[in-house]
Amino acid sequence: MIKLHDKQFVPFLSEAQIFEAVKKVAEDVARDYKDKNPIFVGVLNGAFMFVSDFLKHYPYPCEVTFVKLSSYRGLTSTGIVRNLLDVPENIEGRSVIILEDIIDTGRTLQELVHLFSNTNVKDFKIASLFYKSEVYNGEYAIDYFGLEIPDRFIVGYGLDYRELGRNLREVYQLKENPMINLVLFGKPGAGKGTQAN
Ligand code: 5GP
Ligand code: MG
Ligand code: MG
Repeated sequence: MIKLHDKQFVPFLSEAQIFEAVKKVAEDVARDYKDKNPIFVGVLNGAFMFVSDFLKHYPYPCEVTFVKLSSYRGLTSTGIVRNLLDVPENIEGRSVIILEDIIDTGRTLQELVHLFSNTNVKDFKIASLFYKSEVYNGEYAIDYFGLEIPDRFIVGYGLDYRELGRNLREVYQLKENPMINLVLFGKPGAGKGTQAN
């Protein structure tokens, strides 16, 4: 168990499980983009580790750049997505693949799709390491993802809780307070996000 600020987190994914998920996304994308010299666009800050490891599994010609958006504050999304780093130049006519750490509600993704909608890219795809399919509320179908995860707050491998935890090699999940489940569902461990994996 680890503590970041005021919250406790318990192990959720091992380095080996993350490795497999990253490898899977990279291989899926590589199969489709082998000869297309794509531009990978990492979404800062959360995706920095994923982008780095993804590229190690992508053996074909490609370019990499980054955008920076901001929406999450603490444990829940504020819904405000700001664009802090603009759309890369020279993407006209190119294959663009967004590399995201995690797709949650899809608000950030919606903003990304909007950001690139005025550009004349040849094709546009999304690859996310983690995907919370239960809570995803967007219209855009996620093109590539490494691992579907339940609706729970995770940290590590680039993902933060109030800026801490990005350096962790494994992924941890927020430790639920058993009293909350007792009150809401009548028994300990019965609540959302407490089932194994
Ligand atoms: P969305 O806009 O899809 O609701 O949220 C996407 C962004 O919120 C992600 O890129 C990530 O920065 C942040 N986020 C969503 N879920 C989690 C989570 O479980 N843990 C952390 N640390 N950040 C998350
Ligand atoms: Mg992100
Ligand atoms: Mg964050």
